[in-house]
Amino acid sequence: MNQLNSVCIFGGGSAGWLTALSLRTYLPEAKITIAISKKHSNVGVGESTQPDLLDLLGNSGIDVNDFIDKVDCSQKKGIYYKNWNTIGTDYWHPFTSLSDKGRYTRAHHYNVMHKRDPNNYPLEDYYKRVHPEYDEYALHIDADKMAQYLREFLKDVVEIIDFDDYTLRMSDGKIDYITVDGVSIESDLYVDCTGFSKVLVNSIDNTVTDNYEGNVNAALFARLPHGSQPDRYTTADAWGNGWCWTIPLESRVGSGCVYNTNFCSKDEAIEYFINYWKGAIDKDDIRAIEFTSESLISPWKSNVVAIGLSAGFIEPLEATGISWFVLSAQMLAVTLRNRYYDETTALTYNGQMRCFIEDVQDFIDVHYMLSSRDDTKFWKYQTNRDRHLRLKTRLEIYKKHMPNKNNRRNNIPWAFNDVSWIDILTGYHFKFDDQDIPAYLIAEVEEELKQVATMEIQK
Ligand SMILES: Cc1cc2nc3c(=O)[nH]c(=O)nc-3n(C[C@H](O)[C@H](O)[C@H](O)COP(=O)(O)OP(=O)(O)OC[C@H]3O[C@@H](n4cnc5c(N)ncnc54)[C@H](O)[C@@H]3O)c2cc1C
Repeated sequence: MNQLNSVCIFGGGSAGWLTALSLRTYLPEAKITIAISKKHSNVGVGESTQPDLLDLLGNSGIDVNDFIDKVDCSQKKGIYYKNWNTIGTDYWHPFTSLSDKGRYTRAHHYNVMHKRDPNNYPLEDYYKRVHPEYDEYALHIDADKMAQYLREFLKDVVEIIDFDDYTLRMSDGKIDYITVDGVSIESDLYVDCTGFSKVLVNSIDNTVTDNYEGNVNAALFARLPHGSQPDRYTTADAWGNGWCWTIPLESRVGSGCVYNTNFCSKDEAIEYFINYWKGAIDKDDIRAIEFTSESLISPWKSNVVAIGLSAGFIEPLEATGISWFVLSAQMLAVTLRNRYYDETTALTYNGQMRCFIEDVQDFIDVHYMLSSRDDTKFWKYQTNRDRHLRLKTRLEIYKKHMPNKNNRRNNIPWAFNDVSWIDILTGYHFKFDDQDIPAYLIAEVEEELKQVATMEIQK
């Protein structure tokens, strides 16, 4: 058993700072140190978030309005999907608290009624009738400004060390201490937040990853000005070899073009991206990155926990990266509340993380596999290839009973709630079986469905 009085976070990108914030908030007794290399830069993307970031900010005592102002944030009500099912069609994934209502919601009801009475419940009306209020929101953030903001917020309660050079001192497969510019940091636990570099994870030989095959493996990204008021949603616009994101911040737009190098060269993707923005960006503005969609089977091994890109990455779709760090850091803080850890603690944490990651993988996969597009080799491949048995089984269950509180129990940290699943499946006209309608709820949900969106997200 290991005592837990101090934690050293190695790396100061989004994952490093959000981990520091979480640990400070939920584990206030522990000494937190964050060590940041001056020689390595952050990856510089990751601007679309989920509501859990706002929850963390609020719980940490951050003045959210001040944060929004200084981090150049705009509101994000959801994701607008264009050209995913077929070219020219669209659907939404709004944030919603609807799933809190219980096992049978408007989302469930509308799909049942669509099956029974499609004329009065057309699928085209699903989003505006099921989600009339777009009640929840998240933020689009400037990742660099968020790091600066959190640094300022935490500067008196977290030890911050900027360094040029470091050495790791290891024994018996664990880190004894880290020396940065000649100063030793000795902590009870080390959190690797060094992104794709995985500095600490590699040092303890934590290399076993899952064999999930991602749908895309490369991205181009650029910043550009926006001409008018920022939209209050992220756009994910599918193209022949992947998709493009548009993230409108308060003072600029972040955009990216995601593709799969097995089907498209970097030059083709660059050409598509420049044309997508009708020449508003040029080649020199574009940064490029390739990635593998893999995640560590055991993000916590020995006395090192990986949080952020060091633990894994699926892809940018659905903004699951920051949400994953927020969950990881919160779960770590909660797990450590007894101020000790052992192998069982790590096993439990790793098991919870797998539930989350597998829900992300499945959720991302349905966006591709259920598409009706067959206009390119990329889409033909993604819509025909075999998928994980877990996902196939899950879709059979969801077809029969819909995603609901019974087949998605609360003791698992799902990445997405049952209504989110229904929103996406409905976007692909997924054919749910007829379901029993709880008689006592019919009047209530029918009444709710009359409140057709008055403030549908502007297109
Ligand atoms: C193309 C793309 C788009 C993404 N879009 C989104 C999105 O919209 N929403 C979302 O939630 N997530 C997104 N993500 C995922 C993720 O949220 C972001 O990439 C996020 O910024 C990563 O944060 P990080 O702290 O793990 O890594 P980084 O930001 O890369 O930070 C790494 C830190 O480690 C340090 N470091 C690196 N190498 C070394 C080394 N060798 N030695 C010492 N120190 C080192 C760096 O100095 C830095 O402080 C995206 C990822 C990619 C690749």
